[in-house]
Amino acid sequence: MTFENLSPVLSDALTARGYETLTPVQSQVSEDQAKGRDLLVSAQTGSGKTVAFGLAMGDELLEDGRMPYATSPLALIIAPTRELALQVSRELSWLYAKAGARIATCVGGMDASKERRALGQGVQIVVGTPGRLRDHLERGALDLSALRVAVLDEADEMLDMGFRDDLEEILDGTPATRRTLLFSATIPSPIVQLAKRYQTNALRIST
Ligand code: AMP
Repeated sequence: MTFENLSPVLSDALTARGYETLTPVQSQVSEDQAKGRDLLVSAQTGSGKTVAFGLAMGDELLEDGRMPYATSPLALIIAPTRELALQVSRELSWLYAKAGARIATCVGGMDASKERRALGQGVQIVVGTPGRLRDHLERGALDLSALRVAVLDEADEMLDMGFRDDLEEILDGTPATRRTLLFSATIPSPIVQLAKRYQTNALRIST
């Protein structure tokens, strides 16, 4: 089967994974009106949010259905915990395997020098936790100058855990032209403030 509105390489990945339908949040982020726009999405764990932002990123990542060669990352996903970052990496790995993606995961508690080597080897997607990403950025190991899309996963958790400064430093190091996808279980006023500061004319999606 094929999934309408999706690039063939992503549609094939979902089919190979045994998916038969998109979840509501996945359908909404794939609609024409969401394409290329900043998104402020309220989505719970279990809603299929990871694949949802994985699909949304396709617009920025794929050129003729393939991942272009990149000397620095095109997509950055920031998640609150090591476990979540690793889970996001695993999901994006199968979703983008056929497209030829190279993914680096940067999380606290792992060998930072191995991560630095991986970052130097032409990855298109970086997934990590705020503190570790900031560390790589400050040491010059993470070059965000060509970034096309930034994703904040579980943004409310990240603010609750005190990562605001790290998030701001990371986002301030990315091009103003980037697309920003903000995913959060809840949208309290600190999230609205963050969205106002880092998003432009965001489309609000709730499921
Ligand atoms: P998440 O909300 O990202 O934590 O995803 C919850 C679980 O649902 C993960 O194990 C996904 O692999 C799975 N999942 C996501 N989208 C779909 C879908 N369209 N069909 C079936 N399973 C899905």
